[in-house]
Amino acid sequence: MKIAIVNYGDPEAVRVRKMMLNRLAKTSLVCDHKHPDIVISIGGDGTLLTAFNKYQDQLDHVRFVGIHTGHLGFYTDWRNFEVDDLLDSLEHDSGQSVSYPLLSLDVTYSDGQAQHYVALNESALRQKTKTMVSDVYINDRFFESFRGDGLCASTPTGSTAYNKSVGGAVMDPKISGFQLTELASLNNRVYRSLGSPIILGTESQVTLRVHDDSDSLLTCDRQLVQWDVNQHHLSEVTYRVADQPIRFAKYRHTSFWDRVHESFIGGRK
Ligand code: NAD
Repeated sequence: MKIAIVNYGDPEAVRVRKMMLNRLAKTSLVCDHKHPDIVISIGGDGTLLTAFNKYQDQLDHVRFVGIHTGHLGFYTDWRNFEVDDLLDSLEHDSGQSVSYPLLSLDVTYSDGQAQHYVALNESALRQKTKTMVSDVYINDRFFESFRGDGLCASTPTGSTAYNKSVGGAVMDPKISGFQLTELASLNNRVYRSLGSPIILGTESQVTLRVHDDSDSLLTCDRQLVQWDVNQHHLSEVTYRVADQPIRFAKYRHTSFWDRVHESFIGGRK
């Protein structure tokens, strides 16, 4: 089995990486950072997002494993002192995995150019300073004209991240779909949008058409999607469930709802 390691730059993550490389030498596992079977991230959820970003063109065969060096993460099941247990599980691996839906973004520009991205947590379209005005289409039919700070589309596993902070619902990752949440919408007698999050299924898509992109910001997880306004303008962004899910190597069961409880509620269980 071929392993790639992506680690955060802090001393603890670097220490765990070194220890893992030393132990790997005594196993049948080999390091291959180009075409791995398993990508191990060492750090926090942010490091797992970076690892996903790096290997997202190999989702058809790559599985991910997250080791957390700080507090419990949403994508990190293993603790820094469990490296030997993890290597043992990898050596006895029989391909077990759990998959979660991802978000596909198709970005098109005024000159017809197009770009495709995939998000593990979310993508947000917003304005830096001015009010964003965007027409929202669901399945190619006009739905509403949104005015406000912006809109956020999140995956089920991303629903506990930025989406939750902006009032979106926490979504069971067994549901294949995505969620669209408003960021500070303007709702009065003149302007009207739905005002609540929307959850869409696998067959649905949402298209956002901005009226003026001179002040727009488009994100895809930790990345900023950039374009040159002197060359072309952002025409539309279409969100749907990505064709391929992300797969995590599954050697033990960590309940999503236990994780939600532990992260946001705590105390008696
Ligand atoms: P980061 O990597 O430092 O993460 C910020 C926090 O979000 C960390 O505590 C991390 O554990 C948590 N987080 C990340 N993914 C999560 C998930 N799926 N469920 C629950 N918590 C999660 O910050 P960054 O590199 O700027 O951004 C990474 C992610 O952090 C973004 O994709 C976004 O979802 C989230 N974030 C949230 C807010 C907010 O809630 N206001 C602000 C910035 C970033």
